[in-house]
Amino acid sequence: MSAVIIDGKAISVAVRKEWKERADRLKAKNILPGLAVIIVGDNPASKLYVSNKIKACHEVGLHSEVHDLPEDISEKMLLKLIDQLNEEKKINGILVQLPLPKHIDENRILETIKMDKDVDGFHLYNVGALMTGNTVFPPCTPFGVMRMLEYSKVPIAGQNAVIVGRSNIVGKPMAMLLLQKDATVTICTSKTKDLIQHTKQADILVVATGRPEMIKAEHVKQGAIVVDVGINRLDDGRLVGDVAFEEVSKVASQITPVPGGVGPMTITMLVANTVMAAERHSGNLP
Ligand code: NDP
Repeated sequence: MSAVIIDGKAISVAVRKEWKERADRLKAKNILPGLAVIIVGDNPASKLYVSNKIKACHEVGLHSEVHDLPEDISEKMLLKLIDQLNEEKKINGILVQLPLPKHIDENRILETIKMDKDVDGFHLYNVGALMTGNTVFPPCTPFGVMRMLEYSKVPIAGQNAVIVGRSNIVGKPMAMLLLQKDATVTICTSKTKDLIQHTKQADILVVATGRPEMIKAEHVKQGAIVVDVGINRLDDGRLVGDVAFEEVSKVASQITPVPGGVGPMTITMLVANTVMAAERHSGNLP
């Protein structure tokens, strides 16, 4: 039997509609939510991500602006720009596209963004808030995964959730969000002994390793829900996830594809966090 596809594109259309309605309610009160995106250098993947984020803002009718900076910009200049955007009334959310060039201290940059404009949720305060269950801005990718699971009516409480990958932007916050929903969570890393032993226990398996198609059918329990966060461009130009889609879809009960899975949801949740920031700044809570 083949798994049901969790269609991130279709879900993101529905979820964006909800956030457009919330943005429209603000606009009716002359409040236009605004996002500033900072990109440093010419990384083509980063440029593509930024243009997709801006497109999504346009679709929902938000103000957005891109600050496209040269690779050799100094940390001081970048900090100065963030200070200005922190004070800018028309900007509710600030996002710095990662990775940054080596001469810039990424942590210092992220800590400079005002926490109430930190729509990526990477500020230490927001990381701590997530940890204690008082989430302010959930990081967009795990937030998107949670919405997909919710939309697909996947039960979470009491389920074994296994996450492969422990990055600060995906694996760790994913674990916290699943834990908040009462899943029993396991995190696996490159150092995990006998990965299969863990992944085979998963009712919900989330994979975010950046290793093309590393999760095979043998890693997956019959009937599991499989979420593939990975985005990998192969030498032949194909875009694949971290999960071997064809074989795993014969074992899983539901699975996200790549492309068209988690990617569109990540962008949608950035829109959501920006609208949420504008609601908070203007005191118009839903
Ligand atoms: P990182 O490189 O920061 O982290 C990868 C993690 O995977 C690490 O914790 C690493 O373990 C673990 N890992 C690597 N190899 C193995 C292995 N063989 N077995 C178990 N664990 C392993 O990546 P990101 O989290 O930033 O991204 C992961 C993937 O998700 C990438 O393909 C990226 O492009 C994609 N991505 C997609 C997004 C979307 O919107 N769809 C958004 C963000 C990322 P260790 O810590 O021990 O090194």
